[in-house]
Amino acid sequence: MTPTAATPARAEEIAANLADVRARLARACDAAGRPVHDVRLLAVTKTFPAADAAVLLDLGCTDLAEAREQEATAKVAEVAALRPDAAPRWTVLGRLQRNKARSVARWAHEVQSVDSLRLLDALDRAVGSALQAGERTDPLDVLLQVSLDSDPDRGGCPVEDLAALVDRAAGAPNVRLRGLMAVAPLGADPDASFARLAVLGERTRAAHPGADELSAGMSGDLERAVEHGSTCVRVGTALLGARPLA
Ligand SMILES: *Cc1c(COP(=O)(O)O)cnc(C)c1O
Repeated sequence: MTPTAATPARAEEIAANLADVRARLARACDAAGRPVHDVRLLAVTKTFPAADAAVLLDLGCTDLAEAREQEATAKVAEVAALRPDAAPRWTVLGRLQRNKARSVARWAHEVQSVDSLRLLDALDRAVGSALQAGERTDPLDVLLQVSLDSDPDRGGCPVEDLAALVDRAAGAPNVRLRGLMAVAPLGADPDASFARLAVLGERTRAAHPGADELSAGMSGDLERAVEHGSTCVRVGTALLGARPLA
């Protein structure tokens, strides 16, 4: 079944939102004295239809992110049906169960929510199987999610366990350690959180020069994150609108 396309009004709305977000990013980079190509824009399409993702692809926004495996697996196929010639690059955010690793290994280019040795090992094995089965051609890029408030409900590796996870990821044959990710804790000062993440990022990069990505900043705080060295902002609401409450 072919998914339905976005209405012209919806496409226009997304185009206007994307222009706004790009302008915000350009101003934030300018204020931080950084070139705008330093920061990639990851469009978070979770809860929104494949048609919206197709509009983003039409607008040149090819870096797309999803959070739930089941929703994502279906949407990846729908987007491929809507835009067979586009080459979206799919990222996984959010808590990932180990039994979903094999599915994700078929279509994900990157996972930013790796927060435990067990999940890392499951992904490494799953990607190894997918490579052998000819379901993918490249290793999986991974960012390690750091918990800046040690709230287990929000995911993320506790800071004290990070070094061990970094070393394991750097040595895993089927994943490429690309850097760190964090969500600013609710109610905390985002500046302090992003500054803390930047220090951890520097430490990681010193040991593993290829791990130079810092994924921080969302719709509400992307300027703060860019100021603190973010190389990847994850934007949902500002591009596609408010999500229904889960
Ligand atoms: C949903 C989500 C986002 C997008 O947040 P917005 O505030 O809608 O921009 C960013 N990061 C993660 C980890 C998410 O789950």
